[in-house]
Amino acid sequence: MFRVILHLDMDAFYASVEQRDDPALRGQPVIVGSPPTQRGVVCAASYEARKFGVRSAMPSATAGRLCPSGIFVRPRMDRYREESRAIMRIVAATGAVIEQMSIDEAYADVSALCQGPDADASLLQAMPLARKLKEQIRAERQLTATIGVAANKLLAKIASDHQKPDGLTLIAERDKVQFLRPLPVRILFGVGKVTEQVLQRAGVRTVGDLQDYAGDLRALVGSFGPKLKQFAFGEDDRPLELGDDIKSISGEETFLKDTDDRKILRACLREQAADIATRLKRRRLGAHTVQVKVRYGDFKTLTRQISVEEPLTEANDIYRMGCVLLSRGKLVSRPLRLLGLGVSNLREPGAQQLPLF
Ligand SMILES: [Mg+2]
Repeated sequence: MFRVILHLDMDAFYASVEQRDDPALRGQPVIVGSPPTQRGVVCAASYEARKFGVRSAMPSATAGRLCPSGIFVRPRMDRYREESRAIMRIVAATGAVIEQMSIDEAYADVSALCQGPDADASLLQAMPLARKLKEQIRAERQLTATIGVAANKLLAKIASDHQKPDGLTLIAERDKVQFLRPLPVRILFGVGKVTEQVLQRAGVRTVGDLQDYAGDLRALVGSFGPKLKQFAFGEDDRPLELGDDIKSISGEETFLKDTDDRKILRACLREQAADIATRLKRRRLGAHTVQVKVRYGDFKTLTRQISVEEPLTEANDIYRMGCVLLSRGKLVSRPLRLLGLGVSNLREPGAQQLPLF
C-alpha cells in the first residue's frame, strides 16, 4: 500500500478564533497574550500583527513597541481547546487515522482512502479530499487550515509549512529530492539550533548540501547521522503515534429483560463484533486479545478472555472468539443482564514484532 499522509495546520489559530468571535478584530493586528504594560508574553499573533514582526513567545512589551496599533487580547484556552476538538472531529470524519500533534496540528493517514497505481498517483488522489476538508473547516468553523500532502510525516509537514495561510501543497515522490535541495537544514525533523550550528560549521547549510555531503555525518551529529541523511532525501518511515487512548475497543449491551436466549445473545455479539471490526479498520489495527463480559441479574459480573498469535481484524473472527468464550466458560448458565465484547492488545496487522534486545 502506498502511504498518503496529510499534515493539517490551522492558520494563526488563537488569533483567528478571536477574530472570528469578535468581528471588530477582523483585519486588525491582534496579539493574544498579556497586555504590554504587564510583564508577560505573546501567545499568538494574527497575520496582520506578524507583519510588524510580532512573534509568539516574545515579551508583550516588545510586541507593543513593534506594533503600537496592536490589539491585545487575553488568551481563552478553553475556547481554543473546544475549537480544536470540533476541527479534529471533522478530520476524523474523513475516515483518516489521526495523530494530533498539538492543539491546532495533526497528521492524518489517508492511505486507505487514496490508493492509485503508484505512489504519486495515490498522493494526487488526496488532493480533492484535502480541498474538501479545507472547505468544510471554513464552512463549519469559519477558520482556515493549511494542508501538506506527501508520502510521509517529514514531507507532509514541510509541505504544509511551505505555503501559509490557507495553503495546499503536495510534494510528489518524484520531486521530493529536488524540492528539498534549496531549503535550509533547519526544516528537517530533529535538526534544532545546536545541530544546525554544527552543520553550518561544516559548510552544510541547505538540505542539498546534506544530500551531497560525502563525509560521515556521524562525525558531526553522532548516531543521528544515518537518519539525517535519509531525511535529506525525503525518506521517513516514522509511523503515526496513535497514543495510549486506544489500548482497547469494546461495546456492551444491557438487555431490557435478562435473557439466556442463544439467538438474542449471538445477534448481540455479532453486532458488537461488526462495530469493533469497523473501528479497528479505521485505525488499521488488529487485536490479539478478545474479551467477553457478562453480568447476571444479581449484578455478579464475569469476564473471560482469549489471546491469539495472529491479530484479528475481521468481524467474523472476533464474533467467533466471543462465542467460544461464552460457551467454554459456560457463562450462560443463567440469564444475562448484560453482555459485552471487547478487544485489546492492538497492533498493526502484518507489522513485524521488533525483536527485544
Ligand atoms: Mg498553526
